[in-house]
Amino acid sequence: MTIPYSVNQLPYKVDIKCPSCRQRAQFEFAAIQRIRNKEDVEYFKNNQSFEYKRFQDSCGHYWHGAIYYEGLHGHPLSAIHELPTGYDAAYWSHSKSAYTSKELNIGSVNCNFCSIRRKHSLQWPEEAYFQISYKNHILWAYNTESTNELNDYLISKSRDRSKYNWRYFLMHIPTVFKTQKAREPISKQLSKFQK
Ligand SMILES: [Zn+2]
Repeated sequence: MTIPYSVNQLPYKVDIKCPSCRQRAQFEFAAIQRIRNKEDVEYFKNNQSFEYKRFQDSCGHYWHGAIYYEGLHGHPLSAIHELPTGYDAAYWSHSKSAYTSKELNIGSVNCNFCSIRRKHSLQWPEEAYFQISYKNHILWAYNTESTNELNDYLISKSRDRSKYNWRYFLMHIPTVFKTQKAREPISKQLSKFQK
């Protein structure tokens, strides 16, 4: 199948099939920052808000990282206190550092059905909750809103993406799903999610 997106372009939160009960659950990427001073490693190892991990870059060099799971601990600005000098809790907000965690699929899952709340390594798009199959190709979306927009876009005559919030996502939908013949069977499947 064609994967229209790299994982780095995913939003910070996506809906997945719960690894425990298969109902709809939320996955949220963690945020990772480099621990710049070796003497600070102990602090991050001992602080329960963080997970310490030694990473390796593409050249084989090791670096010390501190992972913060916003999906488990809440917004970093309200949950992280008394950091060593030179660090700011805002560094662990999604907008600053999610890039690395997206590359590494690191995050957490939260399910309202079976109440699991734990660290999770994302397999995308295999775990996408909003996915359908058409002619052996998998069509997926991130969440309710992008699924609704996808359905609306595919059945529209104009295919005008400018009015949608998820226009960039819609831009990358493979051609197989956009043919005249595909309209009805795909819309039928996507509409099931709207019930
Ligand atoms: Zn569950």
